[in-house]
Amino acid sequence: MKTILYKKNYQKKTDYKFSDLVDVEDFKKLLDSYYKATGIPNGLVDNDGTIISQSGWIDACTKFHRGNPQTKHFCQESNLCLMEKLKDNEVSEEKCKNGLFDYATPIEIDGKRLATLFLGQVLNEKPDINFFTQQAKKYNYNKTEYLKAIDEVQIVSKEKIESIMDSMVLMAQMLVKIGLSKLNENRLEEKLSETKEQSIQLKDILDFSPVGIAWSTADGKVEYVNHQFTKLFGYTVEDVPDLKTWHKKAYTDLKYKEEILSPWLNKVSNAQKSGEQLPSIEANITCKDGTQKRVYIRVSWVGEKRLVSFNDITEHWKSELRNRAHDTMLEMVAKNNSLHKILYEIVLTIEKEDPNSICSVLLLDKEGKHLMTGAAPNLPESYNEAIDGVEIGDGVGSCGTAAYLAKRIIVEDINTHEYWKLYKHLALDAGLHACWSEPILSSDGKVLGTFAIYHKEPATPTSADIERITFAANLTSIAIENRSGRDELERRAYYDYLTNIPNRRYFIERAEDELEKNGDNLSLIMFDIDYFKRINDSFGHKTGDIVLQRVAHCSKDILRKNDIIGRIGGEEFAIVLPNANILKATKIAERLRVAINQLNIKVNDTTLPKISASFGVIENRNQDIDELLIQADAALYEAKNSGRNKVVSASYSEY
Ligand code: GH3
Ligand code: MG
Ligand code: MG
Repeated sequence: MKTILYKKNYQKKTDYKFSDLVDVEDFKKLLDSYYKATGIPNGLVDNDGTIISQSGWIDACTKFHRGNPQTKHFCQESNLCLMEKLKDNEVSEEKCKNGLFDYATPIEIDGKRLATLFLGQVLNEKPDINFFTQQAKKYNYNKTEYLKAIDEVQIVSKEKIESIMDSMVLMAQMLVKIGLSKLNENRLEEKLSETKEQSIQLKDILDFSPVGIAWSTADGKVEYVNHQFTKLFGYTVEDVPDLKTWHKKAYTDLKYKEEILSPWLNKVSNAQKSGEQLPSIEANITCKDGTQKRVYIRVSWVGEKRLVSFNDITEHWKSELRNRAHDTMLEMVAKNNSLHKILYEIVLTIEKEDPNSICSVLLLDKEGKHLMTGAAPNLPESYNEAIDGVEIGDGVGSCGTAAYLAKRIIVEDINTHEYWKLYKHLALDAGLHACWSEPILSSDGKVLGTFAIYHKEPATPTSADIERITFAANLTSIAIENRSGRDELERRAYYDYLTNIPNRRYFIERAEDELEKNGDNLSLIMFDIDYFKRINDSFGHKTGDIVLQRVAHCSKDILRKNDIIGRIGGEEFAIVLPNANILKATKIAERLRVAINQLNIKVNDTTLPKISASFGVIENRNQDIDELLIQADAALYEAKNSGRNKVVSASYSEY
């Protein structure tokens, strides 16, 4: 039973004794029977000198030799010599000074001595009576009894002793080997149960982890997912036996998969090859029940295993998303975006939280009777058209009823709900099966419209869904109310209060955006009203203000939709013209110059004298906005210097 395993495990170990391997009591019986069969006393001594067994000591030794200090010493001396000789021989033989022969042989296993077998107190020929008589005299033994004891001593040839020893050693070795393999088995079992325990402990720890953890082999087999993983996503290891299945189930958005996930997975495998730190990612995971979780994913390699952790950041992500939606909405309001555009943005943001949902905003008309489409970018156009203008009432679908009763209406299954009796064909044709609708209420409690969340399958809202629809309706309400002029303060941060065009700061911000997006073919105009001080001086500051307003409005009328005008100083304006080279921009500037010069301004029945402005035009050649403004100003200065009411285009040879 010399398996590789036990050799491997125990070559180094020297921590077992003969008595660990062999049942000593049984072995003693064996040696006793040997003694009975042969009449030759034997003994077994452990490596540390402990006598393991001893059979058939003869009277010559026990009653006489051991009884006298001198002869006892001879016995011990003989034993030492025997041991000494054993270092070089398989069997050692020693004739003690008391006249008897002793033999010893080691019991070894794998070259390691476990114990020593002694056979002895024999004679190898008839006893020399003279010698023993003299011994009796010398050591004061009772001669008759001593000679009788000597007579009882076995006479055995060395060959016979050796063959007896061989068979005893063989037997002992067999027992030792059996014992050893048993010991190894036991130890292996202990070890196995230890490792089993260790892996149980590891899994216990992982199962208590608040982070979802999974590991897979290098060839993509998912071997383990912890408790939190299943709690988080609903999948067990049977649901996602390999990475391919996992990716298919978890990342249902194919565009996301193609544009973000696959490049990231490539990065991970490249980083692994080059030994760089593995990149992490934030991702939306589709759970077993179809809902989505936002998680932060980290990958690491532990030996051959790919260990992935998933930190649930859904709540944080949602609140971030909502904060951002709130900020974006306010900013859009402040920047004078159309209500339609703002509502569209809100709908998309709310949909992002749950990609299985489709959202819509319906607005109540001035009469308070009909719902008009506010924004529903992801509902079928035919459905939107059919709904547009629907008269509200008790039982008029989810939204009609919600607006009528000013109450949240949850319809989990359109097909069976009484509110949808008359309208369900519209919804079912559009593939819509659930519709929850929240009234959008103004700050003084009036219904402004409804915010609806649709699903393509019957669906019951969770508390998180209720929170979401409430938030959405509130946000929409703020947007509508602010858009109607109640948050003027924010708006002022971007728009010039007098002319209602972007102020210098916002103009520069938008100009920078535009330069980044469409900088390749872009020009800039700067103009300044001529002798404006005179207007103030002659007609008063208020009249001056009116002139500024008229100039701004007139300019806006002439400019194209995408041109950006800003009031950048007292009576100074700047215009960013996307898709305009210097020639086109100069033409536009010329048109502005003429229009301003033709303005007919009447204030309190007084017609003001004609006003004019001077213009500088510059084409973008990779400048930043500051450089463009400086260069346009230089051209404008030239226009002033050469007589005013002029357009000067900066030509590149000049700077
Ligand atoms: P020119 O540009 O042709 O050299 O002559 P100007 O008279 O226009 O010269 P300047 O640019 O020095 O004068 C600008 C005047 O515009 C000074 C300031 O009183 C007036 N101004 C600046 N902001 C306002 C404003 O908001 N309202 C009114 N009414 N006047 C303003
Ligand atoms: Mg000026
Ligand atoms: Mg001026």
